[in-house]
Amino acid sequence: MKLIFASNNQHKIEELKSFFKNESADDRVEIVSLSEAGLDIEIPEPHNTLEENALEKSQTVYKLTGRDCFSEDTGLEIEALNGEPGVKSARYAGENRSFKENIEKVLANLSSYTNKKARFRAVISLIIDGKETRFEGICNGKIVNTPRGLEGFGYDPIFIPENSDRTFAEMSIDEKNQFNHRTKAAAKLVAYLQTMKSNSGI
Ligand code: IMP
Repeated sequence: MKLIFASNNQHKIEELKSFFKNESADDRVEIVSLSEAGLDIEIPEPHNTLEENALEKSQTVYKLTGRDCFSEDTGLEIEALNGEPGVKSARYAGENRSFKENIEKVLANLSSYTNKKARFRAVISLIIDGKETRFEGICNGKIVNTPRGLEGFGYDPIFIPENSDRTFAEMSIDEKNQFNHRTKAAAKLVAYLQTMKSNSGI
């Protein structure tokens, strides 16, 4: 089954392509990126919740193409910072700031706290035949004081998932996918598609 993924983020596209490739061969989901679908667009994320931003992105693609698609929006939620940066994760240090500047702001704001607990929360919005369904994936972990590792993107160098001693940026894509919030939400999407298929008797 082909689904357009409403993202231009090459890291997210690679992570999800690798995840779906490792799923069972029967009715494997194949991701079509925005550029592969011929869509040269940047979809805004104007809302105050991950859920609304995810919906905005999937609806935009569905309206433009009429094709089955999904989108994803993620936030890093830090307990001691009352859930910040959260929905503002991409622009925590201001519009068009780099990953490095966003990390520096997180570390500065968190420096006086001993509680370093954090989680990534991803929301996927799937549209099949015009009907929208949402899936959430959470990865619990903690923030380290000094960035480590060169892989991945965003806050990966300062986030260690539970049951690991390495940051996401010290892991390969397949290793990160064992913990990944986004792939947890994607696993729910796969289960949903399988249920839809068995209910339709195909
Ligand atoms: P988006 O709005 O879903 O594209 O994500 C917002 C921001 O969260 C991104 O710009 C990244 O800084 C960060 N982010 C999202 N997913 C991840 C991840 O898997 N690892 C590290 N940072 C992430």
